[in-house]
Amino acid sequence: MPNDLHPAKKIYPAHGDAIRIVPLHLPDPVRQPTAEAAAAGPAAAPQLTYRNGPLLTAVEVFTLFWGPAWQQAAQSTLATQINQFFDFILTSPLIDQLAEYSVPGRTIGHGKHTGTLTITTPKLKHSVSDTAIQHMLQQEIANNPAVPHPTPNTLYFVYLPPGVRVVQGGSASCQAFCGYHNDISGQIFYAAMPYPGCAGCTGGLSTLDALTSTSSHELCEAITDPIPGQGWYDDANGEIGDICAWKTKKLGAYTVQLEWSNKANQCV
Ligand SMILES: [Zn+2]
Repeated sequence: MPNDLHPAKKIYPAHGDAIRIVPLHLPDPVRQPTAEAAAAGPAAAPQLTYRNGPLLTAVEVFTLFWGPAWQQAAQSTLATQINQFFDFILTSPLIDQLAEYSVPGRTIGHGKHTGTLTITTPKLKHSVSDTAIQHMLQQEIANNPAVPHPTPNTLYFVYLPPGVRVVQGGSASCQAFCGYHNDISGQIFYAAMPYPGCAGCTGGLSTLDALTSTSSHELCEAITDPIPGQGWYDDANGEIGDICAWKTKKLGAYTVQLEWSNKANQCV
């Protein structure tokens, strides 16, 4: 969430634009409350409320690795590991713990990893906009038989290669965020995952651990708030992952992020 960022790097979402990013990891001294914030007293404990929008009750994750770099040795191993992460995580206790966010008629349960694809076109430059990511997704869905058509549960995870900056909402990866999820007209749900090529987006973790941490953040948020701000949301603190950004735990072989629990009143 923006409050976790260094003041010079704060981002202010446009009016009505919900918080949807993984913020940069910051060293502890930077995270200390400012004098101003301390004087204001402790903030109210987070409490997400449900805004009547859709939930991804049985998420179907399809991973898209964009750029020829993903075909080279190191990155193709990483892509395989990310796919194995989804094979594991979608039926793991990480999904079970989201059951408290089920609502009548919408029961959150296990998901599945439906497939993966590496694409080399359109060719990427040093920077890619959210608009270009949406355009690519829509083109692939329309024209590539290997890419599933969206169902109400489909979540596309788009991974960018090293050296490509992602620009969304007037800010950029490694400058203000390490990933985000979004929707296209409430019909197509996706997460954009820039390659963690800076300290702010590795948070002292290995590349794989950083990516599974940020991917778990976006996964849990996309399930509980697929149209940002219309599912489970807290106006002051954002979505369930934002409240616990960069607090991690091990699940099986994987590093995942803690998520806010309304029931436990803490990150779990
Ligand atoms: Zn988030």
